Amino acid sequence: MNFLYCIGIDESKILLMYAVYLMVQDKLFFIYVSKEEEWKKRYEEDWDYVSSLTRFFKWWIKHEFHEDFAVEADILPVIPGKLFDRVNLAYLLRDHKERGSSIFHFYLTYFKPMWTDCHLEGYHGENFGLTTWFRPKVFSSNFKVERYFADNNCSKISHVLSHELIRRKQKKRKVYFDQVHKIWDSHVNDNVPFYYYNKQLNRVSKNSEYRYVTIDTSKLEY
Ligand SMILES: [Zn+2]
Repeated sequence: MNFLYCIGIDESKILLMYAVYLMVQDKLFFIYVSKEEEWKKRYEEDWDYVSSLTRFFKWWIKHEFHEDFAVEADILPVIPGKLFDRVNLAYLLRDHKERGSSIFHFYLTYFKPMWTDCHLEGYHGENFGLTTWFRPKVFSSNFKVERYFADNNCSKISHVLSHELIRRKQKKRKVYFDQVHKIWDSHVNDNVPFYYYNKQLNRVSKNSEYRYVTIDTSKLEY
């Protein structure tokens, strides 16, 4: 006699409850935007890190913000057009709407947004995040590419994610925008250290091997 039978719940109900849970669970969908002609190369060179980064942020969001997101990632190859169909912030805002604005879409783009309120090459809107994805000019065997991605991309993603995760806690813009920017500016201008994590997700010092970088979340008050 199995345990579920003992307590009077049949397995089909459990499966149904699990399916409902998956449907209502908040989703965070990272979309790596690439020019059509480059996507295979970028997939080969960047995707290992991008997919590990999405797993890291699933853990980080739970650990720091106590939110449990279903996290996915995909590549979006685009054909850059002229004028009206140019791939830009407006294009991705439309893409977000079409995919479903209740899903938190986070775009990693090859271009910088033309305008932003953020203190970096990124943009935040309701359920919408964007950061420019930086990549080294050359990949060589002795180049620490993970470190490069962590310093140049991961930290910025944590900044834009923080805007949205605090906004979701019903906080005013002053809290979810200004506070994150104050912390960000202290890292960039005053050399206050970021948080560094190794691949086992342990906090480590800047001088050791690290794979992920985030803003200092201990300074967030909400
Ligand atoms: Zn910002």
